[in-house]
Amino acid sequence: MSLTHYDHCRMCGSKKLTMFLDLGKQPPPNRNIPPRSWLKNPEPIYPLQVWFCHDCALVQLCDVPSKEEMFSEYQFLSTGVGNTPKHFQEYAQELKKKFLKKGDFVVEVGGNDGVLLVELKDDMRVLNIEPAKNIAPIARSRGVDTLNDFFTSDVAKKVTKKYGKAKVALGNNSIPHIADQESVMMGFKELLAEGGVGIIQAHYLGDMIETLGYGDIYHEHMAYYAILPLISFYKKLGLEIFDYQMFDFQGGSIRIYFGHKGAHKVSPRVAKLAAQEKKKGWNKLAIYKKFAKDVKRSRDKLVKTLSALKKKGKHVAAYGAAAKAVPILNYAGITEKMVDFCVDGLQSKQGLCMPMSHIPIISPEEAKKRTVDYYLLLAWTFRGHIVAKEKDFVARGGKFIMPIGEIEIF
Ligand SMILES: [Zn+2]
Repeated sequence: MSLTHYDHCRMCGSKKLTMFLDLGKQPPPNRNIPPRSWLKNPEPIYPLQVWFCHDCALVQLCDVPSKEEMFSEYQFLSTGVGNTPKHFQEYAQELKKKFLKKGDFVVEVGGNDGVLLVELKDDMRVLNIEPAKNIAPIARSRGVDTLNDFFTSDVAKKVTKKYGKAKVALGNNSIPHIADQESVMMGFKELLAEGGVGIIQAHYLGDMIETLGYGDIYHEHMAYYAILPLISFYKKLGLEIFDYQMFDFQGGSIRIYFGHKGAHKVSPRVAKLAAQEKKKGWNKLAIYKKFAKDVKRSRDKLVKTLSALKKKGKHVAAYGAAAKAVPILNYAGITEKMVDFCVDGLQSKQGLCMPMSHIPIISPEEAKKRTVDYYLLLAWTFRGHIVAKEKDFVARGGKFIMPIGEIEIF
């Protein structure tokens, strides 16, 4: 257990930072624990506060638990989650069409269980750089060459020495997890061949602000990506963003395409998006202060809604022990007293309890034996998928509650 406090922006180095949202002390969210284990070993909790950089406009966390604590053992397996495999099958097709030819070298940083690279391994040379000791062997067992290490610029040098430069280097929902953003991007620069393409997929800050999706704020997400701060950061490192794509995955994501400076024709869309972000005020503190106020209001409404249902004797359970539910539950002080259990299809989570709220996680089979009037939809980014799957529950009059935004019941 250790905590590092950054007193400077992780992209531009400025010390002009202001904290605008305080979600209290919270545990790392991908750390479900055995029942009652907290009686013997208190859970580690760390300040969860969000800061704004006045110089480059990056939204970020400044308190960072050690990477070994968060990522050496990781409970999140990409392949078991909702529409994730389908999303990556389509992504692999796009890569083949646009950027890759047979035999090219592709590197993915934090490729988890190989969900993307497994789609490319038959035609390309692939390497997954995955820090989790428990997940790297799973990726290998699927035929994806995997280096079990934390990615840094030094690791990138070792990789290029052994395998050569990469045509495509990727990070999917893993790069904002790395505290030292400069080292990781210098690593990408090292990996990429002259005309190579770097692609980083991450949650888009704008979607978080506009949906009040503050569940994305947890210790693993150290930087919240908008294009404005990234353009100047990449430029400083001799890299250049040449295009982007927005899509509806994990509640709204951005995919940023970049390469060495001058290596690709820059789409005018990049400057357009930066101008839009400025117009919306995402480079000013005021919008984040408003966001913090709205988050608090949303949280109060959630607590009020659940308390009222409980008073009426309704059975409330939760659906999907998603990491992004953890900050919300704990900020709202919701525990197993308010929510009977959480159902989750991932076997690795069943039998454990959610961190800090201690809501027990059970299997869908077990949940079918219990009475549930309302499901708090903790995996709300898979809303359509879940509602379709639970048509029997809906047909019986069961309802879902959104834990974010206006706390819609449907
Ligand atoms: Zn900055």
